[in-house]
Amino acid sequence: MKSLIYLSVLALAFTSCKNEPDKTNEVLQTKEPVVFDGINTAIKPGDNFYNHVNKSWYDSAVIADDQVGVGSYRFLNIPQQELLKNILEEVSGVKNPEGSTEQLVGDFYASGMDTISINKRGITPIQPILDRINSLESVSEMLDFVATQMKTGDYSIISAYISADQENSSLNILHLGQTGLGLPDRDYYFGEDTSVIEIQEAYLQYITSLFELTGQEHAGKMANVVFNIEKQLAASHKTRIERRSIKDNYNKWTLEALDKRNKNISWASIFNTLGMDITTLDVRQPVYYDTLDKMLSQVPLEQWKTYLKANSIKSHATILGKPFQDASFAYSKILSGQSEQQSRAKQMVRRVDQQLGFALGQLYVKRYFNEAAKERALDLVNNFQKTLERRIENLDWMSDSTKVKAKEKLFAISKKIGYPDVWRTYDVTINKDTYFENVVALRKNDFEYKLAQLNKAPNRDEWHTTPSTVTAYYNPSLNEIVFPAGILQAPYFDLYADDAVNYGGIGMVIGHEFTHAFDDQGAQYDKDGNVTNWWTAEDYDKFKGKTNQIIEQYGAFTVLDSLHLKGALTVGENTADNGGIAIAFDAFQKTKQAQGDEKIGGYTPEQRFFLSVARIWRVKMRDEFLRNYVTTDPHSPPMWRVNGPLMNFTPFYEAFDVKEGDVNYKSEEERISIW
Ligand SMILES: [Zn+2]
Repeated sequence: MKSLIYLSVLALAFTSCKNEPDKTNEVLQTKEPVVFDGINTAIKPGDNFYNHVNKSWYDSAVIADDQVGVGSYRFLNIPQQELLKNILEEVSGVKNPEGSTEQLVGDFYASGMDTISINKRGITPIQPILDRINSLESVSEMLDFVATQMKTGDYSIISAYISADQENSSLNILHLGQTGLGLPDRDYYFGEDTSVIEIQEAYLQYITSLFELTGQEHAGKMANVVFNIEKQLAASHKTRIERRSIKDNYNKWTLEALDKRNKNISWASIFNTLGMDITTLDVRQPVYYDTLDKMLSQVPLEQWKTYLKANSIKSHATILGKPFQDASFAYSKILSGQSEQQSRAKQMVRRVDQQLGFALGQLYVKRYFNEAAKERALDLVNNFQKTLERRIENLDWMSDSTKVKAKEKLFAISKKIGYPDVWRTYDVTINKDTYFENVVALRKNDFEYKLAQLNKAPNRDEWHTTPSTVTAYYNPSLNEIVFPAGILQAPYFDLYADDAVNYGGIGMVIGHEFTHAFDDQGAQYDKDGNVTNWWTAEDYDKFKGKTNQIIEQYGAFTVLDSLHLKGALTVGENTADNGGIAIAFDAFQKTKQAQGDEKIGGYTPEQRFFLSVARIWRVKMRDEFLRNYVTTDPHSPPMWRVNGPLMNFTPFYEAFDVKEGDVNYKSEEERISIW
């Protein structure tokens, strides 16, 4: 997952229902032309197009107390979860054949809804883990404990995951990454402004509460020990921007070399405990492991045990009883601004989607996905591929030899639409009465599922998102684009809408994912998913120059008071947004609608295209959530996903008569165009 570049986007629950096709289609799929309502004509398109389209909506939109935002994009997963809840309530209320898909998801859901039993068990389920930590007598015993816990999804100071070797994409290898922190980013340990201090304090209080709830003495002091260890680890962490460098985060070493380098860590015995056959591996951030190695001899064992206790309790806190849930929420609400906990049912829907997502996904697709959407989407994707080919041929900054390579890569991209051809299965026993054990069994199953892929070719049937999720992604090592059923819905995609709406909606998303194959990271992978240079030196310099312009442009945007967008963190997504709109607009030009000039709802075809672009990012987020988003997320916040690319896009100027003097006006020479 970490090697993937994600676009997280969303749609309303406008779906067709296979069981009740007529009724659902009548209600949800109107054949009337899409109306762009709520346009704020007091704001000129050239001053702020996002606000022109969305400000009236924004001002009246209310974020529910149990949410961090509202609108489209990721928040369209909220109505999706209602659909999943329908399924779960139905299958959990009946007896299903043992081992069937319905039994797995239904009984798992029911076990999590049984809060009386969960509360009654108190800390009993994690007591054996705490006892094991208490009994540790040496660093080597401790590392064996750390590895054993990893097999149950309880990760602490080692992050090990299996995915393709970036220099040999036909082989899965083990990658070690930096880890060990409880706060969302290294920067939170060092920041000194009040919003960061408040988060640090909430985190310390959270750890203190978890220690108190498990009956530890001196809980406050112990929380400080944990924070200090994390802060030392955080100091060795690379920043998110540093981690965008493909080459700087790849170190293929032999196990022997790593074992020699880290004197206090016997990697051979750790991999033995994990059941992994390792001769070479990719140590993505070696400085972290050097620091950990040193700290293992400097920090007293008792302090490490305190750290591990906090970590294990945290890792299970959301599956224990109410006091643990409350403690977790008290902390997370400072980070997110969300004022109320979600209902148990909402939490459980997310949990089932997370842990049995491809079982639940099968039921979702059967009930809510319209196969016609899959065919139409595939047509669009194929059409966009040809559009991008033409655009590459016409690039004025790239030489012919690099163009040949770029086109080879473009046509090697494979496409996944709707849901997997082969469904992942879950070899687990799920029992209605044992929620905690169910979660642990599923986490173990995940570990084993991934372990079975080590030293093998990547599984091309695998999906990294569940079918109902409103998202899409490009995976550089498989050179594939993926559009799950969840995004093939309004306002992204509407079988009955005019082309302008769909090209500005799902079209922008498709163009965006194609462009990821050629953003600052994607451009370093070849058609087979290997990191190799397929560019001439001169072309690559020009490309770098253009992406640097994108970094500068977005770095100048201010999000909240003095908070700037991080240009270097978001450059890949911003490049994809710029390319996405350009490709979609170009493809739209080939449609009958664009070639005519019929106005719908008072708007020309081109204007409707841009209105659709602005509408798919109609989102309102809480300030607290937005602050964390800007610090940690590689996507720009919604307003800049619209205004950023449109400032660079001449057809937008023409469609809305944007002129010099308008706030977002850029002269033609200043407009950045890459793909
Ligand atoms: Zn993206």
